[in-house]
Amino acid sequence: MEPNKQISNPDCSTAGVSLLNKFDMNEIMNCMQCGFCLPSCPTYRQTGKEVASPRGRIALMKGVAQEALQVNHEFENNMYLCLGCRACETACPAGVPYGSLVETAREVVETNKKEQSKSPFIRDIVFNKIFKHPKRIDTLGTALWAAQAAGLQTLADKTGLVNMLPRPMAEMQKAVEKVASPAERKKRQKIVKPADQPAKLRIGMFKGCIMDVMFYETNQATSRVLAKAGCEVIFVDDQACCGALHAHSGEKDGAVELAKRNIEVFEKADVDFIVNNAGGCGAALKEYHHWFHDDPEWKERAMAFVTKTRDANELLTELPQIEFKNSLDVRVTYQDSCHLAHGQGVRNQPRQLIRSVPGVEYVEMINADSCCGSAGIYNITNFDMSMRILDDKMENVKKTKAHLIVTSNPGCLLQMKQGIIRAGMQDEMEAIHIMDLLDRAL
Ligand code: SF4
Ligand code: SF4
Repeated sequence: MEPNKQISNPDCSTAGVSLLNKFDMNEIMNCMQCGFCLPSCPTYRQTGKEVASPRGRIALMKGVAQEALQVNHEFENNMYLCLGCRACETACPAGVPYGSLVETAREVVETNKKEQSKSPFIRDIVFNKIFKHPKRIDTLGTALWAAQAAGLQTLADKTGLVNMLPRPMAEMQKAVEKVASPAERKKRQKIVKPADQPAKLRIGMFKGCIMDVMFYETNQATSRVLAKAGCEVIFVDDQACCGALHAHSGEKDGAVELAKRNIEVFEKADVDFIVNNAGGCGAALKEYHHWFHDDPEWKERAMAFVTKTRDANELLTELPQIEFKNSLDVRVTYQDSCHLAHGQGVRNQPRQLIRSVPGVEYVEMINADSCCGSAGIYNITNFDMSMRILDDKMENVKKTKAHLIVTSNPGCLLQMKQGIIRAGMQDEMEAIHIMDLLDRAL
């Protein structure tokens, strides 16, 4: 074994052997260090640094797994500068599962910090006290609605009070649209049936947590579109957050707990398909079986869940084409959700659906499948890098001269709304979720 080399910080520590064993050496060694992935990586393109590239990060993981490098701040920063967009997976000729490698690296970082009691208090609040409890997320939604209804956001904007917020939050709040009131949410029909035909399929709608608060109306639109396509859509009770935020932030135990809850409630619902409209959640839902590799019983149940899971774009293109009534007469472009395109391989379906809407002129954007910089909470935790990536993206958006930029993920939608504001294009362009676009044409 090579002697331990420290990357930088003298007070850093080495993770215990049990931690290092979490890395799958076969997956790491599959990387041939060819560098084909480098041009696809947004953080490499921005910095030109090897440690900010997939190949460089894998080399660091290998160093840690072989105990040649320590789990220190520099390792942590390099792992967290990654957007987790998985564009490198699409580019990689060797099929290296980079997404799961970086999840493991972050799990090693976080477990190591917990062992040293260095895990920040705020993480405990976010991951354990909020995101594991759907009712608390709902309460936060109600608080946001109340602030909006009382005009607090506008007042804060006008008086400059908003500038007291940390800059990432202050910028993002400008892009947040009106959220649904508690009364509106209470009125939700738990089952939405086709109006003009017997139901062909029974669908369990995966609502998402933030999705159902910030983009409640998009979930409603999705149920209407699916019903128009001949599905009975059920808003299954007691479902939880998908666990992606936990998994991508090194909180594997929390992710597994949420996955178990979702598997149980959808088993009881006895549906033909479990449908989501958020690329990030969908990728996590389709990977549940990987989260139970040492638990055969749950792995089998997870596999059954995964087999039924579909992104709404996927399912809609497997069903007979919807007959739309309204012509929209609009120029449209599409920004891929990384986790839908690179994680799930769903690329053509959204484009096919957009093109099927009467009156749409579709224009493809340069590098549409390159990350917009949203990446879960990356636009808060790595604000500067996120905005650099977003501003570059907006240059390509401008070239399309589109009136609508369509997305398939709530994070991307919010980021594109923010990008439109930053580019001063509010009068020329709107960002919209694909299900809202389809719903407008019903
Ligand atoms: S996931 Fe995205 S940001 Fe991270 S290394 Fe791969 S391409 Fe780069
Ligand atoms: S991750 Fe894939 S593309 Fe990138 S260097 Fe390794 S083998 Fe090559």
